[in-house]
Amino acid sequence: MTAEGKAVGSRRIRRQFAFKMFHVKRSAPAARMRRMDRQDVIVVGGGHAGCEAAAAAARFGAATLLVTQKIETIGEMSCNPAIGGLGKGHLVREIDALDGLMGRVADEAGIQFRLLNRSKGPAVRGPRAQADRRRYRRAMQRRLAEQENLRLRAASVEDVLISDAGRIEGVTLAGGETLACRALVITTGTFLRGLVHIGEVGIPAGRAGEPPSVGLARRLDRLGFALGRLKTGTPPRLDGRTIDFANLDEQPGDDPPQPFSFLTDAIATPQISCHVTATTPEVHRLIRANLHRSPIYSGRIGSSGPRYCPSIEDKVVRFADRPAHRIFLEPEGLDDSTVYPNGISTSLPEDVQRDVLKAIPGLERAAMLRPGYAIEYDFVDPRELHPTLETRRVAGLYLAGQINGTTGYEEAAGQGLLAGLNAARAAGGAAPATLDRSRAYIGVMIDDLVRLGTREPYRMFTSRAEYRLRLRADNADRRLTRLGAAMGCVSAGRLRRFEAKRQAIRAARALVESLTARPDELRRCGLDAARDGAPRTAARLLARPGVDLERLRAIWPQLGGLDRAVAEQIEIESVYAGYLERQEADVAAFRRDEALRLPSDLEYDAMAGLSGEAREKLTRARPATLGAAARIAGVTPAALIVLLRHVRRDDRPPAG
Ligand code: FAD
Repeated sequence: MTAEGKAVGSRRIRRQFAFKMFHVKRSAPAARMRRMDRQDVIVVGGGHAGCEAAAAAARFGAATLLVTQKIETIGEMSCNPAIGGLGKGHLVREIDALDGLMGRVADEAGIQFRLLNRSKGPAVRGPRAQADRRRYRRAMQRRLAEQENLRLRAASVEDVLISDAGRIEGVTLAGGETLACRALVITTGTFLRGLVHIGEVGIPAGRAGEPPSVGLARRLDRLGFALGRLKTGTPPRLDGRTIDFANLDEQPGDDPPQPFSFLTDAIATPQISCHVTATTPEVHRLIRANLHRSPIYSGRIGSSGPRYCPSIEDKVVRFADRPAHRIFLEPEGLDDSTVYPNGISTSLPEDVQRDVLKAIPGLERAAMLRPGYAIEYDFVDPRELHPTLETRRVAGLYLAGQINGTTGYEEAAGQGLLAGLNAARAAGGAAPATLDRSRAYIGVMIDDLVRLGTREPYRMFTSRAEYRLRLRADNADRRLTRLGAAMGCVSAGRLRRFEAKRQAIRAARALVESLTARPDELRRCGLDAARDGAPRTAARLLARPGVDLERLRAIWPQLGGLDRAVAEQIEIESVYAGYLERQEADVAAFRRDEALRLPSDLEYDAMAGLSGEAREKLTRARPATLGAAARIAGVTPAALIVLLRHVRRDDRPPAG
């Protein structure tokens, strides 16, 4: 079946996933178009990328319109009801530090907070929260409705309008109405020619119950964008009232829960526990016996899925020696009995899904509310983008989120914020704003995407960042809030609060560096110290494993008065002091090279050591800096070294 083909398979499943088809008319001639006032920025799509894009553009001061298929699904979590996690929690904190919405909304809707990797170093700890799906959506919708300069509109965008000079001019809605704008951000997620698979059944859909976006996909195709196809999947949903939790392990959250947002003082939403079960040999047998009915194994799905979030069919095949796979039973809300069984995403036929559930401890009598499914969709090769997320092909057109080949709410939101901000800056005539790899995980992600592209859904991991000790979740505000204020996306209130924290950290640092104790005093308080008579500072003692401010209060009671967030920064930076200094030197070197100017008359053809592809692309693009050259697809690290050597040689003063 083709991506745009007709729905096939059981009528009942089709009904479950049904939606009202839009009646699409082709664009009317310009003279007959009913035009609204021109917007500075239009954002298409109210998912995680779209919400942050629209809010960031509006915070910058641009007159912004968010156009999305349905107002009531703004902020919808298409898959798991959770925000954050390893690598992803860092993104949420960065979005928050730039005054984005995701962290604050997750704090309002979070019903179980956990800091993952707690036993490991602070650099790789990942804040995560299980969210009440409905509360999350409502909180996001409320915040957008309250946002100055932002209007929301329910409509499907079918086409984009481009001037003869190749600049974006607006969009055409289903029905033919056109809306004009200076800059456009498209964030249509999994909707471009989306095709849902459940066993032998295939239904064109953007996600369960919502129509795919076909007109826009065709238009991007016609414009010459390199499109690819990816897939992702989701598990069946269960009725929690029919699950037998009695013999399952309970997993409580952290007490007290630690918020995402630097603005949230404490979590007020009631907290719940999750439960854990696992697959059994019988589950694996059933899956193997029905693999031929899975669209992935029958060959009906050819596209790549997220490697680190495999379907249960994939896990059973790829890890054939594993007797069990864990399943986390995650409630979807406080007033909702739906349970999300995290770990068994599947596209097996509905009858097989029911049999599989019966063979899982605790789920023997569980009622399945909705079957799991896989979805295939078009994405745009992100090498089509500048680091601002503006497309190279059409000026003023920005793309963000799953449309760029990523997976995950947090990845989408991080891109959305940057794309929305840049769209607003461009509309207002301001210079582009980017984040580099040394500054933020958002910078790492965008740099990876625009330079290397992706063949499978891209998700964030801490291992993707080379400056991990610096890019911690706990210090995102110190890395980004001032910068965000300079870029125009941080409110005065947040900046004031951040400056007060910065002052408090400075004062606390001065305090721990000024407090000293002699070895005999330290030994009296249970701390080892050589009998050399030399006094030790509190800062130096904090660098020792197992020594924290709490312990040092026995010697210096005044350390007890520090604010929790301030104390955390002092402890972490004392432990990492030496390493951080080295990393700062690496970052300075990276920035120097990144900013190194390339003369506009460089003769790439005459430069020995460059591949034909690199020569051609550099000659065409004529990048202004080494950093810009690095972001050209096809310009390899080896080519960059050739360039670096060449330019450094040219820099030397003439001999004699
Ligand atoms: P979305 O959240 O998909 O939002 C797209 C928005 O665009 C929607 O509001 C839609 O109504 C709107 N829209 C689309 N077309 C148009 C149009 N033409 N006009 C107007 N509005 C339009 N992520 C994970 O990390 N792990 C997973 O296991 C996982 N599984 C998933 C399973 C499924 C079935 C799906 C659908 C997604 C899954 N995801 C998963 C991905 C996650 O949902 C997305 O990464 C995230 O939602 C992307 O955000 P986005 O803003 O790019 O797009």
